[in-house]
Amino acid sequence: MGSVAEQEHPKKAFGWAARDSSGVLSPFNFSRRATGEKDVTFKVLYCGICHTDLHKIRNEWKNSKYPIVPGHEIVGEVTEVGSKVEKFKVGDKVGVGCMVGSCRSCDNCANNLENYCPKMLLTYGSTYLDGTITYGGYSDFMVADEHFVIRIPDNLPLDASAPLLCAGITVYSPLRYYGLDKPGMHVGVVGLGGLGHVAVKFAKAMGVKVTVISTSPNKKNEAIERLGADAFLVSRNQDEMQAAKGTMDGIIDTVSAPHPVLPLIGLIKSNGKIVLVGAPEKPVELPVFPLIGGRKMVGGSMIGGIKETQEMIDFAAKHKIMADIEVIAVDYVNTAMERLEKADVRYRFVIDIAKTMKPSTS
Ligand SMILES: [Zn+2]
Ligand SMILES: [Zn+2]
Repeated sequence: MGSVAEQEHPKKAFGWAARDSSGVLSPFNFSRRATGEKDVTFKVLYCGICHTDLHKIRNEWKNSKYPIVPGHEIVGEVTEVGSKVEKFKVGDKVGVGCMVGSCRSCDNCANNLENYCPKMLLTYGSTYLDGTITYGGYSDFMVADEHFVIRIPDNLPLDASAPLLCAGITVYSPLRYYGLDKPGMHVGVVGLGGLGHVAVKFAKAMGVKVTVISTSPNKKNEAIERLGADAFLVSRNQDEMQAAKGTMDGIIDTVSAPHPVLPLIGLIKSNGKIVLVGAPEKPVELPVFPLIGGRKMVGGSMIGGIKETQEMIDFAAKHKIMADIEVIAVDYVNTAMERLEKADVRYRFVIDIAKTMKPSTS
């Protein structure tokens, strides 16, 4: 007898799942729905490993429902489309990011901001419209409504573009929305990990001067020589911080570990903006005097809508922006999670699903 997950849908699927908060991933047989009339079915070729996957498999946000098949940086090739699908055909290279559904009728949805829809459905761990749990990209194939499917341009390599579907849009959207995308502006990027390293690349492609802000000088050469940052600022170095005071138009803060915002407020000019895209578990202490004396603001941002995600991918293709990745086999995934926890990756793990995920014989 198979589990509910194996029998609730007609198509046999295979992936790797976490069964409890130990977070250990192991082979998992489940099922997916048949291709509906607006659905695109695609063979998964690569899937990036996002820090969210780690939080979710270990139930660190206390809302995980097991089993969890993680993965929301998914790229592959279309194998079947429904009768009413208009945007895609068999053989197209496509991707799915963090969401697979939304209400399609609220103000957010009407304004191409599905990511802020109160009924937004996550790619994994959400209850889908049919009442079943969504499963992500650590799996052999995906079925998704075409509205939530992104076209991957031919000139982008599929492995290195997968992380753009979460990490890329997470930093691209605030650069655009908060107006930190004007040539000649000076933007700081706090944290040089999966998010930060693509933030540097997008901001540079927009013509912005970029300073990476980090607690240690370890990544200085890499930030400047490999990623193209203009400058590097060690946040623990008071002299450097003093010299950079009031020089930035904005800051994209990608760090999810607790850290003070006050020193960052000092770095921005009047009318400057600090955008938090990392999600510390504890509330951030916000000193108000330094904000009002300079009309400064602190804001947030979470991924982006589908229209903007496509725009981001097309921009990446035009400017040859991709993530720096380490491609791994799926049976390395638990080790990869341990390394990710220690920030021991430059800068994103991507699982080679097609070549290394072999269905178990059951
Ligand atoms: Zn993510
Ligand atoms: Zn909505």
